[in-house]
Amino acid sequence: YQEFSRPGQEDNVTEQLSPTSGLVARPGPPSIVEGIEGCIGNTPLFRIKSLSDETGCEILGKAEFLNGAGQSSKDRVALSMIEIAEEEGILTPRSGDTIYEGTSGSTGISLATLARAKGYLAHMYVYATLVSRPIAKTLMHMQPSCLPSDQAIEKSNLLLKLGAIVDRVPPAPIVEKDNFVNRARALAKTHTASSGIPSASAEEQSDLPAADDRMTRGRGFFADQFENEANWRAHYEGTGPELYAQCGGRIDAFVAGAGTGGTISGVARFLKPLLPRLTVVLADPQGSGLFNRVVYGVMFDVKEREGTRRRRQVDTIVEGIGINRVTANFEAGKELIDDAVRVTDAQALAMARWLVEKDGIFIGSSSAVNCIAAVKTARKLGPGHRIVTVLSDSGSRHLSRFWAKAGDVGGAVDTKLEDVMNA
Ligand code: PMP
Repeated sequence: YQEFSRPGQEDNVTEQLSPTSGLVARPGPPSIVEGIEGCIGNTPLFRIKSLSDETGCEILGKAEFLNGAGQSSKDRVALSMIEIAEEEGILTPRSGDTIYEGTSGSTGISLATLARAKGYLAHMYVYATLVSRPIAKTLMHMQPSCLPSDQAIEKSNLLLKLGAIVDRVPPAPIVEKDNFVNRARALAKTHTASSGIPSASAEEQSDLPAADDRMTRGRGFFADQFENEANWRAHYEGTGPELYAQCGGRIDAFVAGAGTGGTISGVARFLKPLLPRLTVVLADPQGSGLFNRVVYGVMFDVKEREGTRRRRQVDTIVEGIGINRVTANFEAGKELIDDAVRVTDAQALAMARWLVEKDGIFIGSSSAVNCIAAVKTARKLGPGHRIVTVLSDSGSRHLSRFWAKAGDVGGAVDTKLEDVMNA
């Protein structure tokens, strides 16, 4: 996309794209693709009618829940991380190599799905708050992947259905060596073709069930979505160019939350050189430190938080976005973010219900946060502007937490947008 990204060529960009490049929203059904990996990207962009009509702006949602492997925006990232590792010779398809990640859900689901498609073993670490540390340690070896347990249970259940190894680890401060990311990293490092289960002592290994001999094959790769820059590059090469092409180069604002920061950094880095007047807005849930980083240039309490914070102290029901440190993927684009909107859980819940009630759109918690921030941005910019946001995943991934709290949307309801925004 080098040619494509040169500034000053906005007007004829669609013609410049090769019809086989995959960037053009094709009329009619897409052609046959190779495997489930071929169903990633090129997601629809649609006008969210209720929000557009109410604000007088065009509010557009990128339907990332339609990515075909793990059904979220993380499909792009997982595929990018795996393909780059393959190019670098770190992973070889169908060799029995293992992919490790500490994940809150969506990335793990995408990695586990693609691992199956390509013949790898996926091993995910999940936070489990319900068991004590010693018990969790034991469980870890019986039920070998790393995922925070303050996430909806359907996500870790799905990982198990996909045949991933799921390690439930107790929540630990991000700097502690036992935290899920560090644990995944350490395991991947010590993984060799003959090392057995690497983190277990000889004594622990003797107690392990034979079924875990799946883990003894191949090499280990720690995907590292927070620091691995293959993440923002996936959005720079996919989501950004798709949005530009779908909008014919006319976008006034791009609104997104940040979990790893890959989406906002990748899209902003692609779009900003082409559209210097684009406003990039961070949608930040309550409890996250990124809002202050964008608005005031500092992360309040960052030292204290980094040293002491448990993941659950990001006190929100919203999953997948909101963090209290600057990751490599957020760093990659942070100077391109112009504004930030802080969104409460109550607003996110009310917006999720609104979108079902008015539009029949059933989305997850981070998408609801993005939509609140999109409406605020629309009001700030005034009518007539085009605001693009990301609908990262479906509500069905959030039934047991977020949607359990949102409740059922009633039949004869007539909610006012003002009530949603003031929730
Ligand atoms: N929404 C959901 C549901 C997610 O899982 C994530 C990723 N953690 C995001 C949004 C945020 O994306 P990013 O990591 O690119 O900042």
